Amino acid sequence: MNNTETQSIYKNIQNAITSAGKKLGFSDATITNITEPYNVINQSVLVPEIGKEIDMYRVQFNNALGPYKGGIRFHPDVDLDEVKTLAVTMMLKCSLIGIPLGGAKGGATINPREYSEQQIEAVARTWARTMSTYIGVDKDIPAPDVNTNGQIMSYMLDEFEKTVGRSEPGVITGKPIELGGSLGRTQATSQGGVYVLEKILEFMPELAGDKKIIIQGFGNVGSFAAIILKNLGFTIVGISDSRGAIYKDSGFDVESIADEKNTSRTSLHEMFADVDDVQKISNEDLLVQPCDILIPAALENQITELNADDISAKVILELANNPTNTKADAILKEKGVVLIPDFLANAGGVTVSYFEWVQNRQQYYWTAKEVDERLFAIMNKATDAVYTLSQKESLTLREAGFQIAVERVGKAASLRGNK
Ligand code: NAD
Repeated sequence: MNNTETQSIYKNIQNAITSAGKKLGFSDATITNITEPYNVINQSVLVPEIGKEIDMYRVQFNNALGPYKGGIRFHPDVDLDEVKTLAVTMMLKCSLIGIPLGGAKGGATINPREYSEQQIEAVARTWARTMSTYIGVDKDIPAPDVNTNGQIMSYMLDEFEKTVGRSEPGVITGKPIELGGSLGRTQATSQGGVYVLEKILEFMPELAGDKKIIIQGFGNVGSFAAIILKNLGFTIVGISDSRGAIYKDSGFDVESIADEKNTSRTSLHEMFADVDDVQKISNEDLLVQPCDILIPAALENQITELNADDISAKVILELANNPTNTKADAILKEKGVVLIPDFLANAGGVTVSYFEWVQNRQQYYWTAKEVDERLFAIMNKATDAVYTLSQKESLTLREAGFQIAVERVGKAASLRGNK
């Protein structure tokens, strides 16, 4: 995304928090407290292994509800506005689902594809050393995000513990099981999103239609969502990767596609090149194909004023962060499309990260069943609250979600004296 688009998403979120805060009767001081970051750490740090300085970021947006929490992204487009946008979204997400954590985000401006595994390890270790005085189990708990994973969290944990001279597994989540990771974390975002979707369809069963689903993005989140939903009886009629989309009205065997994707670098178009009854289309075309439910699970800013009118889905489940821009939001509202917002739909990931942190603090580990039951309980409760408020006050689910999230974090900030 370009810088202007990111700035405008950030401004729109700040405006939405301000208008929810005003409606709730919060003072200007409280509203300022929850619309601006508490700490911004932005340093250019030399990484000798790659022979240059790398911009490293941590934005600690707000910790009124608990320690800061948010992932670390390694991407060439990472800049301060993007990190701030993702950090405020984390604040809202933790507040909305009612977990005792604040909002943060981090990053390093690099293209991981240009570097070796050893060089990426050096960047990860440098990030952890640079941020070691700012993060901690009771301060700020990072996690993986785009282009970072359990291995990178392992390097960061190791470097942090060497720097501070003690064991502190709860300083970082998204770790492999062997280092204190939680069962259920890998599919948590998708599973949480499916629980939210099922609850909404329980309230509005007519929206399920023929249960035909299109999913944009077939990475971690999109592929697990596809498999879980297919096993529940939905038909996955369209999927895509960065190189294109495929569509088939009778549906795909998404489990075997995921298996092939995990073992080869073949694109979906290549995989189905010789299959006549599968349409090979672009990612843009995929979004407007016939379906009942559309799930963006790839990138920001995919549903815009340019395509919102043509979307046929009656429900949109935002598993990606910020996939819909403000103009598209207004068009979809006008059309009566039920849009389940990102900070509810994809909150299963941070919820299981929270469980990982709790388990690390207790040094006592839960079964997969315990993790899943607790995830279900949190997602269900949050969805119920959002839906009920939306009905009571004739709000969209996004507006209702904002109101609940802003109310909780705003009250916490104001009780602390920011009033
Ligand atoms: P990923 O890198 O595993 O997968 C991304 C997928 O999107 C890949 O299939 C990729 O090929 C595809 N893609 C890339 N560019 C595309 C394009 N232009 N058009 C269509 N598809 C494209 O990432 P992920 O972890 O699955 O995350 C996906 C989204 O979900 C991101 O917005 C991320 O911020 C959000 N999210 C992820 C988690 C999590 O736990 N992983 C939690 C919350 C939110």
